[in-house]
Amino acid sequence: MRLPERGREPGEVLEALEALRAGDVDWRGGRAFTLAYHAGDEVLALAREAYARFSAENALNVHAFPSLRAMQADVLAMLAELLHGGAEAAGFLTSGGTESLLMAVLAARERGRAERGVRAPEMVLPTTAHAAFEKAAHYFGVRSVRIPVRGDWRADPDAMAAAVGPNTVLLVASAPQYPQGVVDPVAEVAAIAEARGIPCHVDACMGGMVLPFLERLGEPVPRWDFRVPGVTSVSVDLHKYGYTAKGASAILHRTKALRRYQTFQTDNWLGGAYASSGVLGTKSGGAIAAAWAVMQHLGAEGYLRLARSAREACLRVAAGVEAIPGARLLAPPEATLLAFGFDDADPFAVADALWRRGWYVDRQGPPPSLHLTVNAVHAAVADAFLADLAASAGEARAAAARGARGAYGTLE
Ligand SMILES: *Cc1c(COP(=O)(O)O)cnc(C)c1O
Repeated sequence: MRLPERGREPGEVLEALEALRAGDVDWRGGRAFTLAYHAGDEVLALAREAYARFSAENALNVHAFPSLRAMQADVLAMLAELLHGGAEAAGFLTSGGTESLLMAVLAARERGRAERGVRAPEMVLPTTAHAAFEKAAHYFGVRSVRIPVRGDWRADPDAMAAAVGPNTVLLVASAPQYPQGVVDPVAEVAAIAEARGIPCHVDACMGGMVLPFLERLGEPVPRWDFRVPGVTSVSVDLHKYGYTAKGASAILHRTKALRRYQTFQTDNWLGGAYASSGVLGTKSGGAIAAAWAVMQHLGAEGYLRLARSAREACLRVAAGVEAIPGARLLAPPEATLLAFGFDDADPFAVADALWRRGWYVDRQGPPPSLHLTVNAVHAAVADAFLADLAASAGEARAAAARGARGAYGTLE
């Protein structure tokens, strides 16, 4: 496409946009078990309106926009309370889980350098910790020391402890980890970190807005937040189970002093003092306003209802998967994530067959398996999905088909 010489009318442009999405997965209809989250049309409309109203405002400099400073402070305060962060906790909003994890690793590297003179930093993390940690390792020159998980897919604290050396600047645990959806033994990992004076980051990008509510519902959730001694930072994605617009995550540090290690300042150019909290320079106020609005609208009651319905849908799908001959859950779901494989069919061929039926699921491995991120929207479609899953499994089995590996993220 070329930039048109003469611009087009807004109505025509919007029509063209709508036509472009014809082949997209129907996430509002619950057809995507990844990438998108939906708490109903009212929440979506509010997020969009709040985003639209602040889309041009720029959080790069909140002196010009005290509104954004106030909204960010409010969102972080709401989160700090949920995570039992106490009065000392301090954080920043980021553009997503990836940026939150980048900042956790950067802060740990900087702290290791400042406090212990570490020049060849390493981090010790389970093989299940998110791919964004590898990106952080790549960007920031931190060696990633991946430690195999136990048979139950949880981090192995003893093996992690054995891998800690003089250059270790960070230990990582996840609540839950993404691939199999189980919660790492955060208390044990954090204890190792605390005993050696090393930061411990808990990646709660998935669980941060779910586990606090499952706990209130009486589910047996192991401790994973700031109540655990030794946890120094936690990441929580708001654009996942916070059900707000894309571009919103948070990183919270146990103290303001720890938060300082993630910030950047310079005056080494002719444009004056420049400072920023994260990766971005210009940062849309839209995502911040949408997060503020959706959290205020849903409240604890709303999130409790959504967590319950996502959890029930997840358990229903899990039971349905187990009832399909040849299908196997990798682990009993501890939050709202689910992974499963097949004894007698290629899981990626099953995913292909599901996509032909309009369902989008994640493909992962090793081991080759399918991954579902179950959210509130799926309560209404769980049974329809299970029927199509059984049919798709049968189809893949009969055809002995091989499917493409697929990818969680792409380079396009
Ligand atoms: C989604 C996710 C991330 C990365 O978040 P993005 O918002 O996709 O950048 C990190 N960790 C976990 C556990 C996640 O589920």
